[in-house]
Amino acid sequence: MSTALFELGFLEAADALAKKEITSQELVQALLTRTEALEPDLNALTWWDAETALAEARAADAARAAGDERPWLGVPITVKDLLNVKGQPCTAGSGILKGYVAPYDATVIARLRAAGCVCLSRANTDEFAMGSSTETSVYGTTRNPWDLTRVPGGSSGGPAAAVAARLAPAALASDTAGSIRQPAAFCGITGFKPTYGRVSRYGCAAFASSLDQIGPMARSVEDAAALYQAMAGQDVHDSTTSARPVGDVLGDMRTAPNLKGVRLGLPRQHFAEGLDPEVEKLTRAAVAQCQALGAELVDVDLPHSPYGIACYYVLGPAEASANLARYDGVRYGFRAAAEDVQQMYEQTRTQGFGAEVKRRIILGTYVLSSGFYDAYYLRAQKVRMLIRRDFERAFEQCDALIGPVTPTTAFRIGEKIADPLQMYLGDIYTVNVNLAGICGLSVPCGVTPDGLPAGVHLVGPAFEDTRILKIGAAYQHATDWHLQRPKI
Ligand code: GLN
Repeated sequence: MSTALFELGFLEAADALAKKEITSQELVQALLTRTEALEPDLNALTWWDAETALAEARAADAARAAGDERPWLGVPITVKDLLNVKGQPCTAGSGILKGYVAPYDATVIARLRAAGCVCLSRANTDEFAMGSSTETSVYGTTRNPWDLTRVPGGSSGGPAAAVAARLAPAALASDTAGSIRQPAAFCGITGFKPTYGRVSRYGCAAFASSLDQIGPMARSVEDAAALYQAMAGQDVHDSTTSARPVGDVLGDMRTAPNLKGVRLGLPRQHFAEGLDPEVEKLTRAAVAQCQALGAELVDVDLPHSPYGIACYYVLGPAEASANLARYDGVRYGFRAAAEDVQQMYEQTRTQGFGAEVKRRIILGTYVLSSGFYDAYYLRAQKVRMLIRRDFERAFEQCDALIGPVTPTTAFRIGEKIADPLQMYLGDIYTVNVNLAGICGLSVPCGVTPDGLPAGVHLVGPAFEDTRILKIGAAYQHATDWHLQRPKI
């Protein structure tokens, strides 16, 4: 093979392994060597162990030699430090889970392992996935491989930086308000948030259970679709997963490489004040490219979308405050030294959680408290319904929505961390997709004059995941933005 092994995408690696052009051991070794060289600059990973990874790779090679033909046999992935991989540490980027080793595989991990994947490493995240810059992790800030002075986005900044810098062909991550799509856009890769209920959340550290969804990050839509297909579908361990069949996502995607007859809606509110002109230019060029491929364009309205952030920062913290109550020093990870049990709870939580997580717990407890519940939590639930209806109406006029993923490209490390509101406002185009429970895809659509990538956002109705993956793939077949790479 002439390409460096670390350059192989997920499907390319699977193909080269199936043809026996390479072994999993060679591929894993190439990625480990690259990791050793680049990690000091990037800080994208929270854990890896060369011996464990090479042992898994050797086992995959041996299985193949013995006739095992599982599709992703020996293909390595990196995993956001929020998902349980049996025998590996799982800390959600938090001091409170220090020392916790996962006793079981998350359903998505079990499914990918059953298909043959090797869990190579763990990738950095904002603490409990709360953040947009990967600056709130107990492991320190991850840097953007396109510009080491900038953030990779968040909360899945570690997976995004790792996949962009070729430390892994693909990653599994989670998205509660944009945490897959925004870092994908900031790092020039592809990220997919499936419809709520499409992918099991069992074994993922819970942040906001009505919004969290696990999805893939990769270097092409097809790679993302392959991972999505392998992990999607009903799971007895997550009662919110749907029984609807997932279908042959990859097969369907390859049928129509153009966009003839596809109606794309441009939400007026997503091309309004606050959108950086360079990002707007690249997004509009992507829209024009889709039109050239046959798509029809329609203007649509999402009148309640300006309320999405306020709504999310009531509901998200409310759910988080309940979910994070379990970290008390008794059952998981870190326990502070204390004289009695009350002091142990207090000190464990005081020392174990970082500032952003504490802010959310306090916010969440406040909006749920008696006397304030109706004014905040209940009202936010009503707004959530209005946001959901906006999308339903928009989808009467079009098949998918198209717009920017983020208002800006990657910002500088330290630029927003002292101003939570500024940080939160960056979720404006992504958050409503989670509130409505629908699906969203971020696809690279260009690089600004200062050398930073941007992403175009494709949003589809609930359970039309394959539809937006198909649109994204058609766009990628006609463009090469997803092939651009950081110079690191
Ligand atoms: N920026 C969002 C937040 O801080 C991202 C959350 C997410 O999707 N995990 O909550």
